[in-house]
Parts: sequence; C-alpha cells; structure tokens
Amino acid sequence: MQRGSQNNDLVRGLTDYLENLQLAGVDAISLDVPGELRQQLLAPQPDILPNESPNVTMPNRPKNVEPPVPTPVHPLVKSSPVPSPPVATDDSGSDPSATDRETTLRQLAVQVAQCTKCAELVANRTQTVFGVGNPFSELVFLGEAPGADEDKQGIPFVGRAGKLLTDMIEKGMKLQRDDVYICNILRCRPPGNRNPGPDEAARCRPFLDATLQVIRPKYLCCLGSIAASNLLDTQETIGRLRGRVHDYQGIKVVCTYHPAYLLRNPAAKSAAWDDLKLLMREMGLPVS
Ligand code: URA
Repeated sequence: MQRGSQNNDLVRGLTDYLENLQLAGVDAISLDVPGELRQQLLAPQPDILPNESPNVTMPNRPKNVEPPVPTPVHPLVKSSPVPSPPVATDDSGSDPSATDRETTLRQLAVQVAQCTKCAELVANRTQTVFGVGNPFSELVFLGEAPGADEDKQGIPFVGRAGKLLTDMIEKGMKLQRDDVYICNILRCRPPGNRNPGPDEAARCRPFLDATLQVIRPKYLCCLGSIAASNLLDTQETIGRLRGRVHDYQGIKVVCTYHPAYLLRNPAAKSAAWDDLKLLMREMGLPVS
C-alpha cells in the first residue's frame, strides 16, 4: 500500500473518531498529536530462551559470570515503572511529552477499537488488541496477530508464545517486558489463528505506522516471517532475513523466529538467541 493511501485511511479513521465524539456530545478536545504525525494528518491529501518448559534447553548466560556493567547504563537495562520524562516538546516534530505519546496512543487505540475495515475479523473478534509497553522504548517487538488468549485479554503476547517472548526479553536480553513496546501487524485475531491476509495487513498498516511514529524506536525486532515480510515488504524467508540488520525508515530491524515457531521447533532457539545477541550488540547492551 502506498503512503498516500495509508494517510488517507488514517485521516478517514480520525475523522470517523472525531465525528463519533461529536455525536457523543464532545465539542472540544486538545490536539495532543506529535508534530510529525500532526503534519501528516493535516497535510493536504494527496537463559533465552531459557525456557521454562522442562524438555527444552537453550544457551544460557554462564551462571558464574557476571555480565559486564556498561558505563553509562543502557537506558533499557534499568526497569523504569514510569515512562522516561520528555526530552523536549514543541510543534516541530521533536520529541513529544509523555502525555502526548500516551494520549496519542490511547487515541489510536480508540480508533482501532472502532475499526470495521476487515469484516471477517470484526465478526469474529472479542476485542481489538493494541500495542503494550513503554511508549518511550527504543525497542519495539513486532508480532503477527493476536491469538485466542490475546483476543480474550486484549493484550498482545500473553499466551504460551507470549510467555516465551517475555523470557526472551527478560531472561535472554535482561530487560523488562514493560520497558519495551510490543505490537502486531494485525490488531484483530484471524479466525482459527490463520495467517493474516495481505489485504488485512495493508488495512491495519496505518495503525502500525502511526504507532511507530509516536514511539520512534531505534530498534525493531520482527518476530517471524509475517512480521518481517510485511514490515520490510519482502518475500524473503525468515531464514534468509535473520542474522543481519535491516533498515526500515531509519529504524534498525533484526528479524528472528516467532516464539510460537520456537515452541514447536526448540532446535531453532539457539539461532534465535544469536539474533537477539545481534540486536543487543546493536543496542549497546551487554552480551555475555
Ligand atoms: N502471536 C503473535 O504474533 N502476536 C500475539 O500477540 C500473540 C501471538
């Protein structure tokens, strides 16, 4: 899908949202949209896998070796329950305030919840599943679509694959799940956990792009081939995409196997750990 038509979708979604607010009696809102996104909207259109499952072993950090302490400590290493404070706020596209980011993401989540573009998904979903995590994170994990557990809870990666992803983040990378941001190509569960269709992915793409424009991550980890091929617009297999750093609009992208695939194919975990170590090195995180 071309950027112009993505923007059209976004503008249409926002217009619907504003009209709904008006119908609900709201006659004024503050436009807390970061500069870059606002410009787009207003522009004239045109031990990772140290797995808890007993029969699976993964390369762990050596237990008796303390990881080196980097100086200064990487911002993601220390868990911060509250999002980092804003760096600066203005209208020129510089870093928006914490409130801006949270408000904008919340507004996007409302639009997502009202989205009815994919009839089959809408008819089958319990609810939409937006992203979760720290809106100031340097690192975003991108999955493919919610599964049954996510559809039930409204949160990405909370089922078995989600638990493995949490282990990859916390036991493998020594980060906190709450300190990164996690989202999907699709925000609705495809019935029967089938793969997202290309049309569905294209219709959901404005929400992903808008999310990334708010968070502005430096690094992104694609989990599995659906995430990687959609984000990077490529037909290459995950086996060929993994193991190197890609670029998506200035974001460094590392691709690895989807945690659900790793649950089915534990032998691939050591390759996934290699991918995470590549990501960690790029991020300046200590790698043992
Ligand atoms: N698999 C995904 O790709 N995303 C989720 O949110 C859960 C499982």
